[in-house]
Amino acid sequence: MHRVFALDVLECPVCRGRMKIIAEITQPEVIERFLAALDLPIEPAEIGRTRPPPQLELPLDEWPEQLGIDAMGEGA
Ligand SMILES: [Zn+2]
Repeated sequence: MHRVFALDVLECPVCRGRMKIIAEITQPEVIERFLAALDLPIEPAEIGRTRPPPQLELPLDEWPEQLGIDAMGEGA
């Protein structure tokens, strides 16, 4: 978190003092209970589908004479 987001997760957001890790919760049932008690969503956020980059418009109506390139691939 610190390296990627420059976010110090051990800095108290109220007094900016140092906090320390007091427990590590790994059991899914316990995590769900914590999230429910905090009224936070239990299911992960849905990730949108990936898509390719937008197709660049090709200047086919200008090709090739107006671009100064002959059909054999040599520049004018
Ligand atoms: Zn504090």
